[in-house]
Amino acid sequence: MPSRARTAWFRTLGQLALILAVAALLGMLVDQVWPMLAVAALGVVVWHHWRLRGVLLRLAARQRLAAPSGTGVWSELDRLLHRSQYETQARQRRLIEMLRAYRAAAAALPDAIIVVDRDSQRVLWFSEAATPLLGLRYPHDIGASLVQRLQPLPLARWMAGGRTVEPLETPSPLNTSITLSLRLIPYSEHLWLLVARDVSRLLQLEQMRRDFVANVSHELRTPLTVVHGYLDMLDAAEHPDWAPILAEMQRQSQRMTQLVEDLLTLSRLESQDSLPAEETVSMGPMLHTLRREANALSQGRHEIVLDDRIQVDLFGSNKELHSAFSNLVSNAVRYTPAGGTVTIGFLQDEASGDREGVVLAVSDSGYGIPPHHLPRITERFYRVSTSRSRESGGTGLGLAIVKHVLNLHQARLSIASEVGRGSTFSCHFGGERVRRREAAEATA
Ligand code: ADP
Repeated sequence: MPSRARTAWFRTLGQLALILAVAALLGMLVDQVWPMLAVAALGVVVWHHWRLRGVLLRLAARQRLAAPSGTGVWSELDRLLHRSQYETQARQRRLIEMLRAYRAAAAALPDAIIVVDRDSQRVLWFSEAATPLLGLRYPHDIGASLVQRLQPLPLARWMAGGRTVEPLETPSPLNTSITLSLRLIPYSEHLWLLVARDVSRLLQLEQMRRDFVANVSHELRTPLTVVHGYLDMLDAAEHPDWAPILAEMQRQSQRMTQLVEDLLTLSRLESQDSLPAEETVSMGPMLHTLRREANALSQGRHEIVLDDRIQVDLFGSNKELHSAFSNLVSNAVRYTPAGGTVTIGFLQDEASGDREGVVLAVSDSGYGIPPHHLPRITERFYRVSTSRSRESGGTGLGLAIVKHVLNLHQARLSIASEVGRGSTFSCHFGGERVRRREAAEATA
C-alpha cells in the first residue's frame, strides 16, 4: 500500500477508536456504556454510508468533478478515483487525436482506400480519393454494398478470390480514360482494405516504351536490309585481303538483323492480351521441324533425340509456339559443347496437378546455369555469360519471347539446371490446350 493510503487508513482507524473511546467514557459517566457505544457505532456506519454515496456519485457522474479534499480513507479513495478518471480521459483524448491523425493521413493519400466488411461486403469507411476515382459519396455510401455500388466493375468474381486474388486492372466507373489498379488486402479476420490506384500514367509510359522500341526496330529494318544486301554482293574471293573483315561485317549485320526481328516479335507479343487466331497445332510435324532445325544448327556436333510419347496436339498459335520451342532448341544446341545430347520431349505433365496437362521439355547435357541466375533469366538481355551468348549468335531476347508466348497460351516455363551437367526447359500446358491427335497423323 502506498504510504499516503496507509496514513489515511491508520488515521480513519484512529478516528474510529477515538469515537468509540469517547462514547465509552460518556457511557460510563451516565452509566449507559453499551447503549452509548451502540449509538456511536451506528453514527460511524451512517457516516461511512454517506461517504460511500459520495464515491458512487463521482463514479456515475460523466462530467469532471473537482478534486476532493480531506484526509480520511474515503477522501483517499475519492482522490484515487479522481486520478484514474483523469488519466482515462487523457488517454482517450490521446487515442482520438491519433485516430484523427491516421484518418487525415489516409485521406491525404492519392490512392482510394475503402474498408470493407468481409462477410457482408459493405463499405465501412472510405478515403476522400474514393470520390473522384470510384464515385463513392459520403455519407450516402457508408453501409452500401460495394459490388452493387461499383456495378460496372467486375468485382463480385474478383473478390470471391479473397486472400489470393491478383490485382485487378480496370477502367474507372466514372471516367473510362482512367485505368485503376485494385488491390484487396485482408488486414483482419473481418475487414478488408480495397486500395484503388490510378495507373493511367504508368500504362501510358509503358505503351510509349513499347511504341518506341517497336518504332526504332522498324526504322532500323530497312537500312539494315540495304547494308546486308550490299555486303552479300561483295565477293571475298575478289578481295582476299578483306576476306576476314567482310566475314565479320556479314556476321555482325546478321546479328543486328536478328536483334531487330526479335525486338519486333517481342513488342508484337507484348501488345496483345490474347492470341488473335488459334488453331489445332499438329505436334507431329512441329517436333520433326524442331529436330531438323536442331540438326541444322548443330551440324552433326550433337546427338539430337526426339521423345514424342503422348500423341496429342496443342491448341494455340502455330507460328508463336514454333518460335518459342525453336528458341529453346536453339539455346540447347548453342549452350551444349560438341559431343553433347539434346532431347526434345513431348510428355504427360506429371509435376502439375492437372492430369490432362502436357509438357514440352528441351533437355541438354550442356554448360548448365548457376541457380542464382534462374530467377532473372527470362528478362530481356539477361545473360549468364555475355561472351558465350554473343559468340553463339544470341540476342538475349530468346527466353523473353518464350515467356510471352507461353503467357498468351496460359502456359508456364520451368527451368531445372545443374552447372556442368545440363539444363531442362519445360513448357507446361494445361489440359484445356490439349487436343486429341487425328489417327492418320498419329501414325504418320
Ligand atoms: P541468348 O540469345 O543470349 O541465348 P536467351 O534469352 O535465349 O538469350 O537466354 C538467356 C541466357 O540464358 C543466355 O544468355 C544463356 O546464358 C542462358 N541459357 C539459355 N538457355 C540455356 C541452356 N540451354 N543452357 C545454358 N544456358 C542457357
